[in-house]
Amino acid sequence: MYNKRLMQNPFQNAMLQLDKVAKTKNFGEEFFARLRQPDRDIRISIPVKMDDGSVKIFEGYRVEYNNALGPYKGGIRYHQDTEINEVKALAFWMTIKCAVAGIPMGGGKGGITVNPKELSKGELERLSRGWIQKLSDILGPKKDVPAPDVNTTPEIMAWMADEYAKITGDKTGAVITGKPLGKGGSEGRGTATAQGGFFIFEAFKKELNLSEKCKVVIQGFGNVGSCAAFIWSKAGYKIVGVSDSRSGIYSSAGLDIEKLMEYKKSTGSLSGFSEGKEITNAELLEIECDLLIPAAFENQITGKNADRIKAKAILELANGPVTPEADEILFRKGIPIVPDVLANSGGVIVSFFEWEQNLKNEHWSEKEVFERLQLMLEDSAKKILEKAKESNTDLRRGAFILALEKIKDKML
Ligand code: NAD
Repeated sequence: MYNKRLMQNPFQNAMLQLDKVAKTKNFGEEFFARLRQPDRDIRISIPVKMDDGSVKIFEGYRVEYNNALGPYKGGIRYHQDTEINEVKALAFWMTIKCAVAGIPMGGGKGGITVNPKELSKGELERLSRGWIQKLSDILGPKKDVPAPDVNTTPEIMAWMADEYAKITGDKTGAVITGKPLGKGGSEGRGTATAQGGFFIFEAFKKELNLSEKCKVVIQGFGNVGSCAAFIWSKAGYKIVGVSDSRSGIYSSAGLDIEKLMEYKKSTGSLSGFSEGKEITNAELLEIECDLLIPAAFENQITGKNADRIKAKAILELANGPVTPEADEILFRKGIPIVPDVLANSGGVIVSFFEWEQNLKNEHWSEKEVFERLQLMLEDSAKKILEKAKESNTDLRRGAFILALEKIKDKML
């Protein structure tokens, strides 16, 4: 049974994507059979002493999908709907993403079924430390390196790194990325996913036939979505719509993103912002615009609404926002999609930079971080375009083919 947000099993969707690649390029059945299963998926129970003295048990996960290219790498998601199939799908996509990015890392992902907004800070810290206590044996800078994802912050990463250091004595911090700056974090990590998405957008703009004046709509106003809104608007693009879990806001004249960020910070919501019209999330996705950026969750553009999408192109900053069924519909409509495994890979690339800096005891400037990031992303974008053209297919399959060639090379 899937709840309203997940609706479809994300792991099945990920495997459908793999099936499509199998039809485009023959990598051999044995290889695909191995890729259909994670190396291991682990479920844990985490007892947490609550502030009222009671003990509550939370369910947690770590999926180590594939480490052919290096240590497992992938974020930890805290959400009330998080469950094993979601984590498996995200871990599979991390495997593809790290390979596309050209970093020596494999794919993993973790999570806890919890609504962190219902916990006090102390409870959240005990829960986060509990996740590490249960998994410290399998984690490590050369084994499995987690990072933040939805609802997990630099502060949570710092608690986790500290707990790992207490248990193992390893104080390099390289066991986990996305830490605060003063605690071994990298310059640029906080905005890396959105910034990377922007570099990718710039690299593909001509290919996608998008102009300097293009109108942008962004779904999700969390870490990735709000940073993206800020970066695109600073670069002079008109952001005509944004949304969060509760509501959306639209202005054909373009939204003042800095004002909107301030507004959300002070009220906790986008609702009631006076310089735009309030719309639903469903309406937001169907706005006529040049670029639609889903930056919230999986399964947002599906067989049910894909026909009504009016954007000229889609750049996936969320993981898995377009289902395989919607992919087909959008392909027929001629709406190109820059896939998540490329578009949002800026986050994991800067995570890899953080890991490298921790291990070498170095600290790179933000300028250096973003210069390196841009070069790597432009290189991946070029290679994916070549692969897609070679096989006469879309960018998602092009990205998968590039990744699978690298993984197969190392795996067999
Ligand atoms: P976040 O928790 O900071 O933000 C999520 C945002 O989505 C919030 O604004 C929330 O209100 C909104 N949201 C939730 N349900 C929604 C709905 N139905 N419609 C519209 N908005 C909704 O999380 P994040 O770190 O910004 O991650 C967003 C996406 O980007 C996820 O798919 C994540 O896996 C992906 N991603 C994140 C990173 C990273 O570095 N944080 C890296 C790569 C990919």
